[in-house]
Amino acid sequence: MTYNIAIDGPAGAGKSTIAKRVAKELSFIYVDTGAMYRAIALYLLRKGTNTDSAEAVSSALEEIRISIAYENGEQQVLLNGENVSGLIRTEEVGNMASKAAALPCVREKLLELQRELARSHDVVMDGRDIGTNILPEAQLKIYLTASADTRAKRRYSELREKGQNCDFDEIREDIIRRDEQDTNRTIAPLRQAADAVYLDSSDMTIDEVTERIKSLCREHKI
Ligand code: C5P
Repeated sequence: MTYNIAIDGPAGAGKSTIAKRVAKELSFIYVDTGAMYRAIALYLLRKGTNTDSAEAVSSALEEIRISIAYENGEQQVLLNGENVSGLIRTEEVGNMASKAAALPCVREKLLELQRELARSHDVVMDGRDIGTNILPEAQLKIYLTASADTRAKRRYSELREKGQNCDFDEIREDIIRRDEQDTNRTIAPLRQAADAVYLDSSDMTIDEVTERIKSLCREHKI
């Protein structure tokens, strides 16, 4: 049996930072499912696929193989064998990922890869539908959120630190639009699972959120 921790929540809630920390402390692997959707989005952008056509996306998916690897403990996402981890952290790719993620064929493509990782490893997996759809049997589920302003501020600082030119208001609007798309889609929408613990990190530090999750792990005998 493997231990699975699911962390879901909206864009910019701090899921990846927290999930990475928790995974490291427990010696679990961290699985960033958003990166998989982003790698597909990168392919669609490069190819200029019309995402309004499910057929066009579905036929593009036949040319795509997504896999992950670990380098110094960091997840790398491979698109047809090419390591695209450094190319997928832009707003353009994020917005395309959110659009593509609403299509059943795209979700279907990633479902088995994600479940298999959780069957074969102890994982902290983050995304939008991990607790509700991918790993409904996860031993611990967290719904991590923060106010839209806090999330936009975090995303803005993150992008600036990477040297990307960005505009705060645009990022805030992007986040709100993405929340709307991810919450209102018909297939696997972003939702708090009935048995997930709700954590609002707006007024919490990374250390505080990590400690809270570690204490929940102890309560859940993880
Ligand atoms: O988490 P991240 O911002 O990298 O995810 C990019 C997009 O991929 C999200 O806005 C969402 O639409 C989609 N996604 C998803 N299900 C997941 C992970 C990400 O639909 N499990």
